[in-house]
Formats: sequence, structure tokens, C-alpha cells
Amino acid sequence: MKDMPDAIVAGGGPVGSFAALNLAKLGANVTVFEEHEAIGSPSHCAGHLSIRSLQNLGLYPLPGKIVENTFSQANFYSPTGFKFSVHLAKPVTCAVNRAAFDKHIADKAEVAGARYCLNSRVQSLLMEDSVIKGVNVKQSDKAEESVPAKIVIDAEGISSMLLRQTGLSTLNPERLVYAVEAEVENVRDVELDAVEVFLGKNYAPGFYVWLMPRLDGTAKVGLATKKGNPKEFLQRLMLKHPVASKQLANAKITRIAFHPITLGGPISKAYASGFLAVGDAASQVKPTTGGGVVVGLTCARIAAEVADEAIRRNDLSSSFLQLYQKRCTDTLGFDFNVMLRIRRFLDSLSDEKVDEVLRFCARIGLDKTLENVEEIDFQGQALLKILTKPAMFAALAYFLTLYLSANP
Ligand SMILES: Cc1cc2nc3c(=O)[nH]c(=O)nc-3n(C[C@H](O)[C@H](O)[C@H](O)COP(=O)(O)OP(=O)(O)OC[C@H]3O[C@@H](n4cnc5c(N)ncnc54)[C@H](O)[C@@H]3O)c2cc1C
Repeated sequence: MKDMPDAIVAGGGPVGSFAALNLAKLGANVTVFEEHEAIGSPSHCAGHLSIRSLQNLGLYPLPGKIVENTFSQANFYSPTGFKFSVHLAKPVTCAVNRAAFDKHIADKAEVAGARYCLNSRVQSLLMEDSVIKGVNVKQSDKAEESVPAKIVIDAEGISSMLLRQTGLSTLNPERLVYAVEAEVENVRDVELDAVEVFLGKNYAPGFYVWLMPRLDGTAKVGLATKKGNPKEFLQRLMLKHPVASKQLANAKITRIAFHPITLGGPISKAYASGFLAVGDAASQVKPTTGGGVVVGLTCARIAAEVADEAIRRNDLSSSFLQLYQKRCTDTLGFDFNVMLRIRRFLDSLSDEKVDEVLRFCARIGLDKTLENVEEIDFQGQALLKILTKPAMFAALAYFLTLYLSANP
């Protein structure tokens, strides 16, 4: 490699590319190594994202056909099929084609000056006297090459092995759920502006099922489970669920992918001398919904700012780079704490209680309280905003009683 990059990003997923984009915009010389031959592929993600959060990140509106549909409604089904619907005043979320979304961010990063090397797997960190000095990369059929850099940003996703090499603690394997994401055609009886969410231990123990329709009769359907085979749960859903089995009675699966999701909240230390970890690699994923794109992008932007500052000061020490952890915690720490508690609460509920909770939400008119909600990523802050509303207050008191009885 001719010029030594200031920064190397390992992994050209959305989070790695957004770190590269922001670093390049700040003037850093950045190289991204992606092990696959194309950005965004293979894809395993539903791509359900908040429109407002994308706007705040400077990524919305998105060009071309990246957005497949927008949603202003969510239907939550209890295990017995009871439906609680929330109608929002305007579309709040969208489903994106993840391959096209990832490519869009990578293209922007390239235009800003980032260099992309595809078919290039980062094999290990280049260490000198225990200090990270770059990476060792294997490009296609070439011999492994050492590429020095001032800082390495680890954006490898959930199975990061660079993080392990630094000696930092990796994400908590006990808080993983195992997901299946399928593309289906011939879906019926769905509202085209509504995301369907099915709850219940028979179909998604420890998580939930989602169904996101497209306008052409196709849909993305997926689920995650704490134990068992996700494909078998999907088959059971399609055959037996009181509502989903009717919507999917004639459906044909055209593509299927499997991947874990991390629900344990961010790792406690995502930096070392000359090293930052971002996105799924650092478990920056919402413990409630498993959504990791927006929070990962948010942390990637912070990582780029701190890395750029470190490069300019020529101070790549761990004591300077801890600023990254601090800024991420300042921005998202409260929300992660709230979401971890909500996840614990949800995990503690029996199917009967889930049914009871949804019926309670409908009874107190919680749907009306939620109709102006726009924020779905920063869930702690979103909760604080609506807490003053009477129905929310009643709901909170009820949930708290359930939570305390399940977690004495
Ligand atoms: C079934 C499912 C559905 C999901 N649905 C949603 C959703 O609707 N909304 C949402 O916000 N989130 C969702 N998520 C989570 C979301 O997919 C992740 O949080 C997001 O992809 C994280 O982005 P990332 O860039 O950190 O990692 P990734 O997207 O995993 O990208 C990592 C990249 O690094 C590359 N790589 C890995 N190791 C190396 C290496 N050593 N050298 C070079 N390249 C390497 C990989 O090839 C990959 O391209 C879902 C996850 C699953 C499993």
C-alpha cells in the first residue's frame, strides 16, 4: 500500500462506512477493508429504521429505491392473537433494502475520499510492543500484507475477532438471540403501512416476530429466539399462528438468512491504544428491538470525531481515546440503561401476562398517547417525553408492579 492511511476501518458494513465517511469528511486519510467482494452482501437484516434518526444523521431522504416502504402503524399481537394497534400521525419508520443502504453509505464515503479494498479480510492486528500499529490483511489470492496506520476502527460486526485480540471484553454471549430473516411473496390480509409484531414463547422465545409488507405483495418476515432452531419457529409461525398463518398461508419464501443479534447492551470498554470498536462489534444494539443500525451509526460518528482529534494531536493513547466511550455514554447511556430494564421486564413476562399487558394498553387508550411519537431509537428519552400523559402514567405504574413482582 503506497500511502500509510491515518485510519483503517475493518469492515464495510453501514457502521464501518459511516465512520469512514465522517473521518474522510474531517480530512483524514482512511482505508476500509471489507472481506466480501461487494458492499452490503450477504444481507441478513430487516432494515427497519427510524426516519427521524436517519434525518438527524444526514442520511434521509435516501435516493432511488433504497426505501422499500414507510410505516405509520404498528400492530402488536399477543400470543392468543389479541391485536393492539398504534396509529401514528405520519410515517415514522421505513424499511430499507440493506444491501443498497450499505452501498449508498460506502459510495458517500468514497466520494468524500475514503479508499475501499474489497475481497480484503483483516486477519489480525499489527502489534509492536503490545501497541496497535495497523493490521495484517489478506487480499484475494495475494499473500498477507501488513498495513500500518495510526488508528484501527473495528467495525467487523457481531463476530469481531480483532476485539478479542486486544484483550478487551467482548459482548456477552448469554445475551445473544438467534435470528432468521426471510423474504416472502404472496402475503395477504396485511395493512401496507403497518409493521406486524407477534409476541409469544411458542414463536419467538426471548424476542418477537416481525412482518414488514412491501407494496407489491412481498414482505420481510423474521424472528429471533433465545433457544431452539429459528427456522423451525418460522415454520411453526407460518403453519400455526392464529393471525400470521393466515397472512402467510400462500406465502413462498424466496430468500432466507440466519444471524445472531446481541441484546446485552454496549461493551464496557470499546477502546484501547490505537483502537476503537464500533457497531455490533461493540454490541451497540438496542436491547429492546435488536436494532443496531442507528445506534451504531451514532457511535460511528463519535468514533470518527474522536479518532480525527487523536490523529491531529498525535495522541493515540488509550487515555485520550477513552473520550469515545465517554461521549457514547453521554449520548446513549441513559437510553441503553432504560432499554436493558425494558428487555429484562419483557423477558420476565409469561405469555398470559403478555396477553394481559396488551389488553391493558388497549383499555387505557395507550394507543392515543403514542400517536405523536416520532422517536423510536432513543427510547429512554422518548419515554421521559410522554411520561406526563395520564395513560402513560397508568401504564408505567402497572408495568412497574409487574416488573417488581417478577424481579423482587
Ligand atoms: C435478522 C436481523 C434483523 C435485523 N433487523 C434490524 C432492523 O430492522 N433495524 C436495525 O436497526 N437493525 C437490525 N438488525 C441489526 C443490524 O443488522 C446490525 O446492528 C447492523 O448490521 C450492524 O452494522 P455493523 O456495520 O456494525 O455490522 P455488519 O452489518 O455486520 O457489518 C460488518 C461488516 O464487516 C465485514 N467484516 C467482518 N469481519 C471482517 C474482517 N476481519 N475483515 C474485513 N471485513 C470484515 C463483514 O463482511 C460486514 O460487511 C438486524 C439483525 C439481524 C440479525
